[in-house]
Amino acid sequence: MKTAGQLELLGLDLAELTGLVERAGEPAYRARQLFDALYRQRVAELEEILTLPAAFRGSLAQQSVSVGLPRIEKKFQSEDGTVRYLMGFADGQSVETVWMPEGDGGEAGDGSDAGAPEGARAQAWERATICVSSQAGCAVDCHFCLTALLGLQRNLSAGEIVGQVLAVLSDQGVALERRRLNLVFMGMGEPFLNYENFIKAVRLLVEGVGLAESRMTVSTSGIAPRIEELGREAVRPKLAISLNAPNDELRARLMPINRKWDLEALLSAARAFPLRSRERLTFEYVLLDGVNDSPDNARQLAELIRGVRAKVNLIAMNPGPGVDFGTPADSRVSEFQRILIEAGVPTFVRRPRGRDIFAACGQLKHTVS
Ligand code: SAH
Ligand code: SF4
Repeated sequence: MKTAGQLELLGLDLAELTGLVERAGEPAYRARQLFDALYRQRVAELEEILTLPAAFRGSLAQQSVSVGLPRIEKKFQSEDGTVRYLMGFADGQSVETVWMPEGDGGEAGDGSDAGAPEGARAQAWERATICVSSQAGCAVDCHFCLTALLGLQRNLSAGEIVGQVLAVLSDQGVALERRRLNLVFMGMGEPFLNYENFIKAVRLLVEGVGLAESRMTVSTSGIAPRIEELGREAVRPKLAISLNAPNDELRARLMPINRKWDLEALLSAARAFPLRSRERLTFEYVLLDGVNDSPDNARQLAELIRGVRAKVNLIAMNPGPGVDFGTPADSRVSEFQRILIEAGVPTFVRRPRGRDIFAACGQLKHTVS
C-alpha cells in the first residue's frame, strides 16, 4: 500500500505531465506516453510503462512518484450482476464504486467468469454503467440517504475519481473500444461541492480514458450556481437534478439544502441550462412511502417542471439502517408514473440494482459489512 505524501500521477492532465517530464530533463513527448499509459493502458505501476526509459522510471520512483490507482479493498457481488467495490486511497480513506452490467445475461452474472479472457466475457453483457463517488461521505444531509449519515469526510481528487473508473474497468477486464459504457456521478457525495476536481475528472475521462461525454450523467442535489457553471463547460456530462419533492415546504423537510437554493432557483437554473440537440435534463424523484408519493404530489410535480425539456426518473426508496422512510408499493409507484406520463412528462421507474448488497441509490455507506 502507498504511503501518504507521494506524488500520484493519476489526475494530472497532459499539460501537467509535460511540466513534470520537462523538469526531469526529458523530452516533451514523454508526457504523451505517460498520459496514454495512465489513462488508456491503465497501468498500475510505473514499471509497466515500457515506453519510458528505465532510468526515467527509476528516477520517478526514487522521488516517490507513483501511479496512484485506488486499491480494491472489498468486492460485493449481487445476484443481479451488480458489483459494489470498496476502493481505498493512500491516506486510508475509502469510497464505493458500483459496476452494473446489463443485457445478454449480464444481470444474471455471478462472477464465476472471473479470470476468463476478454473474448469469453464479451457475451456476458451488452452495456454497463459505472457509478462513481465524488466525495468520501457527504455534507448535504438529505434525510433519506445513507451516505448522509457519514457526514463529509473529504473531497476526492480528480485522480481518485478517475482511478475508480480505471480500477473497475481493469477488474472487469473491459476493452473499452468494444463496449457501450455509461458513467454516472451518482455515488457517494455531492459532485458540485467538489466541482473543480469533478470537472477535471470528466475531462480526463473523455480525453484520456476515451469515454463519451454523452454517456456520462452527473446528479446534483441542487447547487444552483454550479448548474450554471456546468452549462458553460465545453466538455460536460448530462445533468440530472434530484428534486424529490414538488414544493418547497416538503423539499426543505427532506433536503435541508433547499433552504439555500429553493425550487424557484433550481427551476430557473434548469430552464436556462443550454441543452445540446436531442439532449434532455433528468429530474430524479425518490418516492418515500406516504411522504411525497401521492397523486397530488405527482400532479404538482408535473406542473412544476412544465415546459422544461426533461424526463423524470422515479426511484422507489431503497431502505437502510438509520434511515426512517419506507418503500412505496409498486402500485403506488405506477400510479405516480401514470399521472406524470398523462401530463406529458416522459417518466421512467429506475429499477433498483444490487439492493441485496446495499449498492442501490442512496445505500452507499461503506461501514456496511
Ligand atoms: N449527491 C448527488 C448524487 C448522488 S445521490 C445527488 O443527491 O443527486 C444519487 C441519487 O440517489 C439522488 O437522486 C438521490 O436523491 C438518490 N437517493 C438518495 N438516497 C436514496 C434512497 N435511500 N433510496 C433511493 N434513492 C436515493
Ligand atoms: Fe449527499 Fe446526494 Fe445523499 Fe443528498 S442524496 S446526502 S446530496 S449523496
